[in-house]
Amino acid sequence: MGFLKKLFSSEPVKPEKHYYTFNVKCNRCGEIIEGRVDLDNDLSLDYEDDREVFHVRKGLMGSNKCFQQIEVEMRFNSSRELIEQQAQGGTFVE
Ligand SMILES: [Zn+2]
Repeated sequence: MGFLKKLFSSEPVKPEKHYYTFNVKCNRCGEIIEGRVDLDNDLSLDYEDDREVFHVRKGLMGSNKCFQQIEVEMRFNSSRELIEQQAQGGTFVE
């Protein structure tokens, strides 16, 4: 059974990880919070007019103890390029 074990334990080649990073500024205290979207795991697929659209929703909180929860919502096209972003409780900054 040696070779079976070997077969299953062989490490698959890990594809490169894709992340989309962004910064939001807290509307309450002005802290800049960095967020990250894992383009391989965080996205949910939707269909809009037969078009594939990925969306993701994230809740972020800074470390300033102002307890403002910032909700961000983003949409990506099928090439995983950002097409729309919204933030509640914060503002996107470069
Ligand atoms: Zn804050």
